[in-house]
Amino acid sequence: MNKTIIVSNRLPLQVSIQENSLEIVPSVGGLATGMKSVHAEGNGIWIGWSGLPENELSSELSIEVQSKIKNEKCVSVPLTNQDIEEYYEGFSNRALWPLFHYFTEYSNFEQNEWEAYKRVNEKFAEVVIDNLEDGDTVWVHDYQLLLLPQLIKDKKPNTTIGFFLHIPFPSYEIFRTFPWREEILTGMLGADLLGFHTYDYERHFLSSVKRIMRLDVQFNEISYHDRMIKVDSFPMGIDYDKFYNAALEHHNESRDKSDLRKRLEEHISEDKKLILSIDRMDYTKGIPNRIKAFEYFLDNYPEYKEKVRLVMLAVPSRSNVPQYQKLKRETDELVGRINGKFATVSWTPIWYFYRSLPFNDLIDLYISSDVALITPIRDGMNLVAKEYVATRTNGDGVLVLSEMAGSSKEMNEALLINPNSYEDFALNLKRALTMPLDEQKTRIKFLQKRLKRYDVEKWATEFLKSLEDTKNVKNQKVTKKLTGDYEKDYLTNFKDNNKRLLLLDYDGTLVGFKDNPQDAKPDEALFNLLDELQKKSTLVLISGRDKDTFQRWFGHKPYNLVTDHGVWLYKNNEWKALERLKTDWMQNIRPILETFVDRTPGTFIETKNYSLAWHYRKADPELAKIRTIELNTVLTSMVANNGLSILKGNKVIEIKSSNVNKGRVVSRLLTQQDFNFVSVIGDDWTDEYMFEEAPESAYTIKVGFTKTKARYQIKNPEHVRELLKKLIS
Ligand code: UDP
Repeated sequence: MNKTIIVSNRLPLQVSIQENSLEIVPSVGGLATGMKSVHAEGNGIWIGWSGLPENELSSELSIEVQSKIKNEKCVSVPLTNQDIEEYYEGFSNRALWPLFHYFTEYSNFEQNEWEAYKRVNEKFAEVVIDNLEDGDTVWVHDYQLLLLPQLIKDKKPNTTIGFFLHIPFPSYEIFRTFPWREEILTGMLGADLLGFHTYDYERHFLSSVKRIMRLDVQFNEISYHDRMIKVDSFPMGIDYDKFYNAALEHHNESRDKSDLRKRLEEHISEDKKLILSIDRMDYTKGIPNRIKAFEYFLDNYPEYKEKVRLVMLAVPSRSNVPQYQKLKRETDELVGRINGKFATVSWTPIWYFYRSLPFNDLIDLYISSDVALITPIRDGMNLVAKEYVATRTNGDGVLVLSEMAGSSKEMNEALLINPNSYEDFALNLKRALTMPLDEQKTRIKFLQKRLKRYDVEKWATEFLKSLEDTKNVKNQKVTKKLTGDYEKDYLTNFKDNNKRLLLLDYDGTLVGFKDNPQDAKPDEALFNLLDELQKKSTLVLISGRDKDTFQRWFGHKPYNLVTDHGVWLYKNNEWKALERLKTDWMQNIRPILETFVDRTPGTFIETKNYSLAWHYRKADPELAKIRTIELNTVLTSMVANNGLSILKGNKVIEIKSSNVNKGRVVSRLLTQQDFNFVSVIGDDWTDEYMFEEAPESAYTIKVGFTKTKARYQIKNPEHVRELLKKLIS
């Protein structure tokens, strides 16, 4: 039976050694909850680090750890102290984390840590592959394992792999500063489905893929070698019922109140309010900013002195990283200063806890607070905001939320603020404190409805459903790929028939693309190949190239040449016009193209005998996309009246006479001579005309894996050459 393998840096277990015996406690975090049913299903397993450094375990203990966690359907990846220091605390938390959260000045790029990151990702890959069987699905989580998808795909190309990033993906302008940006993207592109919390992260990722990897992106699909990779957003939810039910239980009159709850309630009355903030002590959470903004609030609205209290829980985190130590010192000082500034004998404005609290205390905090102030500077999602809303079983309470948290995208009914504007902060805090109960309830109800529907389990199932769908796309593609039996059939048919016609497009089919079209000259190996093919068949090179270029490159050869998309035919050392064409329209169109060249760096015009081509291969892909739409609009009205048409090729827009296309040439050749084997190979839009005109029995072959009318598809020009070589061997 096929299984799902979940992979994350840490296993969903707390493993500890208690007086020489092992203790294993399941984790209760969001991810563990969301994955619970996926993990429980069938033979599902979870792969990750146990939390115990391998070098500190005796070999007996190491075996015991493995066997005990196996009972929990987990497999551990052995990591040493050095691995953890360099790969986790180093590369993951000192390079990737700050950069992906836009704290570029905190990013530290160390070569040895990058090496460790690669090494540890390989360790993970080894364990995954050891546990992988055909048909299994792998779901990789988060920024510690960005290289893992490709490492698995390299060894097991048929495995379906999903990847989810739990932190933001930064804008291209930030990501491009990363020294190993291509390696990171390549690693991620090993997945079949890439998931992000928000559409913004998805769009930033696609933009980096387009600009750095120069890959084709259509909506949210990337074509990469012979694969289509899907990118989508899946905002992670919480275990809604767990928080809602716990809150109900805490409100239950018969339940004994905790000391914390009693202390909190002492402060609550009609005109006194509690404001809550909870975060890990992390510089992305904007804790000092929040304290200063609170000071600004008290300065500007002094009537709230002694009426409000900020209960601030900061959970210790990564406390051996210098920036986190600095943050802790800064926070301590700020809290001290502000409490000193405002405190009275009966009131301190900030209650500050630096620790983590058990679940029940968290619930008490949530249900006792009138306002939750969640104001990170940058946050992938922020689950605390969602948990606060889930616990508001009476329907009251106000959430003030930073626009920079991923959760703000789906929590419009919160009061959204820019955490860097103290004024915005103070105004909205005042608004929260004075919000009428009816309005609070309307907002909370809306928010709760969504959180309940799209909870963490739904998040996991939606992701896996989408991942499963990528399999169907893959299977459809495989049936058309010209390999295996299809290839055999192609070769046998060529051999068994003697009247053979080979129609071959040139650019993108026999040679790869170059930045400058004149650099894509035929090489010696290609000449040898074509010479041999010519001996065995009617060979026609059919291209959008102009006649002069082909004359220069192939004039000395006996091949048939068709240039300018079908205007000229070169046969028996003689050029013959297939179509009578005018070129006077060019003087009107060229100035328009020139304005596009001026405004779009990296583009240029190629003037052919019968057409004008605007090339944008080297331009910024996003700008080029806008410009192609613009150019198309400008040209559409002009071409219709002038008997012209627009061809959209591979990173080129070409304007030429309407009555010319490669398809017409195909029909002409087929009526002039009788063939019993016809093969047409081409890569772009202009070749689709040939595929349409070719007889049903013909082998129409599209180079690349985008949509086509051809019967078969083949990966790239190298594969075309390999195939053609087999015809003559
Ligand atoms: N949390 C906790 N103990 C605490 C305080 C918070 O377990 O003392 C939990 C909280 O319930 C939430 C998580 O920590 O589920 C924090 O997740 P969030 O997405 O808000 O921030 P992250 O720490 O992932 O950046």
